[in-house]
Amino acid sequence: MRRVHREAHLVARIGWLRAAVLGANDGIISTASLILGVAAAGATKSNILLAGVAGLVAGAMSMAAGEYVSVSSQSDTEQADLAREKRELLEDPEAETEELTQIYLKRGVERDIARKVARQLMSKDALGAHARDELGLSEITSARPVQAALTSAASFSIGAATPLALVLLSPSNLLIPFVSVGSLVSLGARTGGAAIFKPIIRVTFWGALAMAVTAGIGALVGTVV
Ligand SMILES: [Zn+2]
Repeated sequence: MRRVHREAHLVARIGWLRAAVLGANDGIISTASLILGVAAAGATKSNILLAGVAGLVAGAMSMAAGEYVSVSSQSDTEQADLAREKRELLEDPEAETEELTQIYLKRGVERDIARKVARQLMSKDALGAHARDELGLSEITSARPVQAALTSAASFSIGAATPLALVLLSPSNLLIPFVSVGSLVSLGARTGGAAIFKPIIRVTFWGALAMAVTAGIGALVGTVV
């Protein structure tokens, strides 16, 4: 019996992976910056923690809302494309068969075979064949708003938990260096995987900049208020 070779590709997880990485980085940078801003203004540790927790909840909710809205509009577009395709298949199946044939021809298939494949796929599942080969929509890449929203909120919260934990662990007089260095290190650590150097530099630079600017403003406000 021929052994089926199973391959685990990452592409199937691309949808939520992207949302997760963005969410985690966002959680670290925005919550660490908020904490540093409040700390630089001279707040007590309990007030810093309170601000951090409020930042985590607010950030997670807004990430979820933003992701849900953007992925929903992607899903709406996909549904509209599929509805139009369905109509075209009903109105002119011959032209749609030729369209599919042309797609396979362009991929290097001989005309007769291309036509045969197009006919067979259309008789089995015409909409599925056109969705996949003409519109580029597949089960793997189709928009899932709720999944994306939940992934974003969860990964933002996990990201935000890092600077919050650092506040809890740090001695009060070393809170600012503790939170800034610890958060930057965890930003770099999350960026691992393929070609790590550039992304680490990129995310650390922007993270450091966000934290420095917020701490500066916090210090300023702290002296004025
Ligand atoms: Zn079509």
